[in-house]
Amino acid sequence: MRNTGKNSGQRSKKFALINQGCRLNAAESQRIAQELQKKGWILSSPQEAPWVIINTCTVTHRADADLRKIVRKIQRENPTARIVALGCYVDHHGEVPGTYLSLPNPRKMEVVEVLEEVDRGRIARWKSRGFLKVQEGCDLACTYCIIPRVRGPSRSLPWAEIERRMEDFLVLGYQEVVITGIHLESYGRDLGEKSGFLNLLQRLEAFYPPVRFRISSLDPRFLTRELLAYILSAPHIMPGFHLSLQHYSPRILRLMGRGSNRGFMEILEEIRATRPEAGLGTDFIVGFPTETEEDFLLLYRFAGEAPFSYFHVFSFSPRKGTRAAEIRPRVPERISKKRSALLRELGRRKKEEFARAMVGKTLEATVIKEGEALSENYLKVKFDEKLPPGNRFLFKIEELRFPYLVGNPQE
Ligand code: SF4
Repeated sequence: MRNTGKNSGQRSKKFALINQGCRLNAAESQRIAQELQKKGWILSSPQEAPWVIINTCTVTHRADADLRKIVRKIQRENPTARIVALGCYVDHHGEVPGTYLSLPNPRKMEVVEVLEEVDRGRIARWKSRGFLKVQEGCDLACTYCIIPRVRGPSRSLPWAEIERRMEDFLVLGYQEVVITGIHLESYGRDLGEKSGFLNLLQRLEAFYPPVRFRISSLDPRFLTRELLAYILSAPHIMPGFHLSLQHYSPRILRLMGRGSNRGFMEILEEIRATRPEAGLGTDFIVGFPTETEEDFLLLYRFAGEAPFSYFHVFSFSPRKGTRAAEIRPRVPERISKKRSALLRELGRRKKEEFARAMVGKTLEATVIKEGEALSENYLKVKFDEKLPPGNRFLFKIEELRFPYLVGNPQE
């Protein structure tokens, strides 16, 4: 690490923060931003801040390439900036070229020490919603996933620490908090709790009644009857659910190390029947090694019939060090791309159909920036009035200008 030099003036007290990747990273970035600001640092832009922190992701090769692009852009636009890279890229590949300092996941929070100034300053909101990371790591072994190796086994944030973070969020006025983690249903196991995640949601409901919580993602294989019944009835849980399914062909799911598709459709139908307005999404991986036309058709039919309001489609990309990277034959890129495009088009149609059904309804949404809010069921709402970011309002939905809803805030 080079000498930063003390007392280098006001400019040295500014930092910028760029988040790559998942909501878990977003939660950590938010934490870092808050800790720095508590110590007097001022959040600024990558073009003018003398410190630019990048919380990196390495889920795909594309993320790696994006990171290198980001570093080059900062070097061009702000040549004297000290760039600090944190997290997954560093764990996986080591130091990021062109950075002042690279810190792996376990040492991420040291960045606060590295940048610390004695002055105390004002804390500003880094985003319009709070991101509460309650769990880290994963005990499972999906064959395409590098996360258990990169982030280690499941660890849960103890309640006392969650309370501390929630207090910060309340001070900052967050009205919506996204609960994030790598595998949320593992929450509490390492603390000796059997239904840890359900207990956590119940506690959050009891302690923070004004806040509405969004659950970032759930694994259908671990969604117990009690947990499902609770999230469908609890008023503080937003009706927007993301289930990680990845595929529907039993053969591909087995090769992915994710068991079978048992119960997928039943869970989705139960959510739709209980909460007709609920956002319901998933991720699909297309072109997994050995995927046949028949496997893909099973997935395509399921995606069409299930009551999804959206889904994300990823083309399989082998990660070195995973078992899936060794499975042959690989699906030729041309075929994988074709299948992805077909599925994405289906996803677009389903999203549009769901969004159209919202016209005429009233939805609660959190303002995320000027003129734009995110609805409780995960649709973007455009509006004309000036409303404060971070606050929740009810919007009467007037029309669809896909992919946006257009709404009017209600008194
Ligand atoms: S559940 Fe599977 S995909 Fe998710 S983090 Fe764990 S190993 Fe990776």
